[in-house]
Amino acid sequence: MAIRKIRELGDDCLRKQCKPVKEVNGRTALLIEDMLDTMYEANGVGLAAPQVGILKQIVVIDIGEGPIVMINPEIIATDGEQTGNEGCLSVPGKAGTVTRPNYVKARAYDENMELYEIEGTELLARAICHELDHLKGVVYVDLVEGELVDVTYEEEDEYEDYEDEE
Ligand code: ZN
Repeated sequence: MAIRKIRELGDDCLRKQCKPVKEVNGRTALLIEDMLDTMYEANGVGLAAPQVGILKQIVVIDIGEGPIVMINPEIIATDGEQTGNEGCLSVPGKAGTVTRPNYVKARAYDENMELYEIEGTELLARAICHELDHLKGVVYVDLVEGELVDVTYEEEDEYEDYEDEE
């Protein structure tokens, strides 16, 4: 198990366009393992490669239903809207309100470079949008409605979802 250092807001890595992955070699496989370890260690529900200083199009997500690895991901459909609280392991101790699609369908390669599609609503849809933004150099603070707020350590999960008011 290897924990990598999570880059924080202000680090150039978080503002770069990431490059597509051509093949999963030993180094890439190790990176993916380390990203999962790092995400779980930090109690996050998602982590993108640039957050550990690697400018490749790789994200990992686990909203409590098992690990999802997305290589060269792209969103192919969205629907609806959800407005909720969001945070990021690269912006520790802060949260803010972000509006995202309530449904997302994405296409990505897994760690064996097999193409697959994934659909998600609510927290998973939010996590996919948030992590894929990282691959384009976008951090959620760019999208926050109103002010970032301080959160206490106990509440500092990567995404704190709360009920949507329709
Ligand atoms: Zn993030």
